[in-house]
Amino acid sequence: MEFDTIAAISTPMGEGAIGIVRISGDQALDIADQIYVGRHSLKEVSSHTIHYGHIKDLDNDEVVDEVMVTVLHAPKTFTRETIVEINCHGGIVPLNRVLQLSLRYGARIAEPGEFTKRAFMNGRIDLSQAEGVMDLIRAKTDRAMNVAMSQVKGRLKTKIESLRQALLETVAHVEVNIDYPEYDAEEMTSDILRERASYVEKEIEKLLRMSQQGKILREGLSTVIIGRPNVGKSSLLNSLVNEKKAIVTDVPGTTRDVIEEYVNIRGVPLRLLDTAGIRETEDVVEKIGVERSREVVKEAELVLLVLNHHEPLTEEDEQLFSISEHRDRIVIMNKTDQDQKIDMDAVYEKAGSSPVISTSLIEDKGIEQLEEAIANLFFTGELEAEDFTYVSNSRHIALLHQAKDTVAQATTALDEGLPLDMVQIDVTRTWELLGEIIGDSVNESLIDQLFSQFCLGK
Ligand code: GDP
Ligand code: ZN
Repeated sequence: MEFDTIAAISTPMGEGAIGIVRISGDQALDIADQIYVGRHSLKEVSSHTIHYGHIKDLDNDEVVDEVMVTVLHAPKTFTRETIVEINCHGGIVPLNRVLQLSLRYGARIAEPGEFTKRAFMNGRIDLSQAEGVMDLIRAKTDRAMNVAMSQVKGRLKTKIESLRQALLETVAHVEVNIDYPEYDAEEMTSDILRERASYVEKEIEKLLRMSQQGKILREGLSTVIIGRPNVGKSSLLNSLVNEKKAIVTDVPGTTRDVIEEYVNIRGVPLRLLDTAGIRETEDVVEKIGVERSREVVKEAELVLLVLNHHEPLTEEDEQLFSISEHRDRIVIMNKTDQDQKIDMDAVYEKAGSSPVISTSLIEDKGIEQLEEAIANLFFTGELEAEDFTYVSNSRHIALLHQAKDTVAQATTALDEGLPLDMVQIDVTRTWELLGEIIGDSVNESLIDQLFSQFCLGK
């Protein structure tokens, strides 16, 4: 395939003054060579070597930066195109100038993810790996990064392939049965079919359960802090944000007055909603009434309900309990440094299955326990495992849902005693849907696969 030559700053993960300008495409060497001054021309050096030199702006003969340049000839590169990577030292300003120079000499600025897209287009990686890389770019916490990484490494692909293989073998049985009825007992075939179909269904369900986790890791667990005026909401927000350092503090431009902040709680990214509401009211009259709380609670996956240990439970507290009843919720009993005036039995009763955590935010107590409660809500049991193949992409999730439905239909068809070739339609469809996740059932048919693997002799 033919593409133009693209360039972008692809700063490596983590901090640091070193940055990389990456150029990919047929013209990469020509472009880089025109702005590079070193011992050899970049066009003469061998592939996969690194060279010390300077980047010069020829217009005014000015040295822009001292660099190390990596030359990687096609096709053994990430994009399968020729890549030149210019490792700059001087920080963001020279980095930008190096990029601008490469654009002046013929490169086009890459769109976000375009290198990855090329790797896919040039057959270097499959679709799920490409999407994994895209997630990696957006990953917000270390744990989210691990998920994206494992996807890049093809874990999802491996899993999907094994499920497809299981289905393929099933279909092989059915084919044999249809073609040589005397050879194979129909009953045996449908037993095998049922067993395989329910195995595949269970595995897909597992992936879907993990996908929920994946979504949260990628997008953050939307969290809201509610409570009466003066119970300590702002204090809680501050201790979460300050201690854990907000990962992102931005106004994403979606909703006008909602500010979101991300904090990383033991690997769980909390997306704190409506912190403007909490911050604004500082030193002013509290305006977060029950009605406003009711609205934000609707958008939240996790509710942190703050109560005051030093005051009796009020009507408003009870309303806040009831509006958050059907959400994952943690009750925070704050101001435990002051004497107890709240009826704890009533609190436990209203909390139901929600954990109740005691804090004294002013003395910095209870935050550890709160963090633990959050992590427990999120990473239950099996999901603790580090190397799990989380599915975190909405296209994959939609396809998995469809695949689960079709494989369930196969089981139903079997139960209803429908002929095997009818059942096979659902099995084949499931196989195709799973294939779409890894991007390869578009041009190869199940039957071709079947023949190449099982030689049924047709
Ligand atoms: P909000 O109105 O719910 O946001 O409550 P704030 O966080 O603004 O806190 C209200 C007041 O309670 C402030 O004067 C805080 O310093 C104080 N406060 C917060 N947490 C505690 C605590 O654990 N113990 C005590 N004694 N005071 C607290
Ligand atoms: Zn406040």
